[in-house]
Amino acid sequence: MEIQFFGAAKEVTGSCHSLSTKEEKILIDCGFFQGGKDMERLNYENFNFNPKDYDAMILTHAHLDHCGRIPKLVSQGFRGKIFATAATKDLALVIMLDAAKIAAEDTMHENKRRAREGLPARKPIYNDTDVRAAMKLFVTVTYGEEVKISKNIIAKFYDAGHILGAACVQLKVDEKKKSLVVFSGDLGQADAVLVKNAQPIEKADYVAIESTYGDRLHPPIDQRQKELVRIINETHKKGGKLLIPSFAIERAQEIIYCIGNYMRDGLIPKMKVYLDSPMAMRATEVFSKYPEYYNKEVQESIKTRKDPFDFPSLIKTQSVEESKEINYLKEPCIVIAGNGMCTAGRIKHHIRNSIGNKNNTLLFVGYQVEGTLGYWLKKGEKKIKLLGVQVDVKAKIEAIDSFSAHADYKGLMKWIENYKPKPKKVFVIHGDEEQSEAFSKRLEKAGFKSCVPSIGDKFEI
Ligand SMILES: [Zn+2]
Repeated sequence: MEIQFFGAAKEVTGSCHSLSTKEEKILIDCGFFQGGKDMERLNYENFNFNPKDYDAMILTHAHLDHCGRIPKLVSQGFRGKIFATAATKDLALVIMLDAAKIAAEDTMHENKRRAREGLPARKPIYNDTDVRAAMKLFVTVTYGEEVKISKNIIAKFYDAGHILGAACVQLKVDEKKKSLVVFSGDLGQADAVLVKNAQPIEKADYVAIESTYGDRLHPPIDQRQKELVRIINETHKKGGKLLIPSFAIERAQEIIYCIGNYMRDGLIPKMKVYLDSPMAMRATEVFSKYPEYYNKEVQESIKTRKDPFDFPSLIKTQSVEESKEINYLKEPCIVIAGNGMCTAGRIKHHIRNSIGNKNNTLLFVGYQVEGTLGYWLKKGEKKIKLLGVQVDVKAKIEAIDSFSAHADYKGLMKWIENYKPKPKKVFVIHGDEEQSEAFSKRLEKAGFKSCVPSIGDKFEI
């Protein structure tokens, strides 16, 4: 059996891994590379494998860096089944349609430039039709169920505690000898706002584990409420706008759920809260379909607060006109808009219009990939170029890291220590090189055999 890493190796994005026996080949995830133009260009390059050679695919969860290249994979000949939980399937549709829309817009701009330079026009990475074709290949599975993926491989999905529907996957490979291989997918931080904690897995011969925060610790979980309440109150006092760039999936729903609770409990004043993201609205509809995936606290709360993602002063803005009207609002308000790293979407317009005013606040509640606008703003950049104009950053920049959907190194260690006996080898993936190396060292110190593969590395296991 062979394991190979085609992405998210010594980097965070572009998850795509391969497991093959003499009789079959399967893929685990096929996501976008993200973080600046150079990384995104990689999405347009040919796969370093033939999609037609693969028999099946497992999608661990619906984040763009895990599902983003699936329609391209299908348009290039992949015809196997794609196994995922029902929530992952529904959320992946939202994500991939949005990626197709952004690709169409980007390609339009790119082709204008190419025409000026006398270069041939480029096609978008994929379109809506490719997304619909990919959706036809999905087969849904439930946590705990054993599913036959291919001739010799049976998969079992475990809740990863990361985002709605996210899974760690344990693969039972029955070749000449039997082996258990686990792909962690992305592992959540314990006590997330909405989803349950990651389920422990106890048996594996080989594990591929994420290491986004392989060398970092998150602030305590109670900071979430304390900090969010403080920042909302301070901005309200100044009469300013609070802009929250947010991922459409999970983070937007978490923020709305928290703000709704704080307002109801009188911790923050009543004020208008705009959810200015049609994509987050679509994702919220998916969340409402799967209340069984919520943690106990949210399940309890929906007995009284029927819809956890709604409250009286929440305004959902669909059209661009409605979104533009927020600019003229003279009272304090909160604007939640996508995307989470400020690389596209309505948040860019809100930042351009509001960042020059010291009474406003820009609050980061999610991971910022190096090279993105969000990354530079969070780092404290004082001048930015946005939508063709130079803007001075005068608004207050704040960040709350305790919302993270990823476990920190203590959480990762706790998860890997559930395996009895220890796996024969642990592959440390899905992290910037220094994070992965640091986590690998930690593993070695704890008696695990580990390595940090590079893109393309292949291992006979
Ligand atoms: Zn993820």
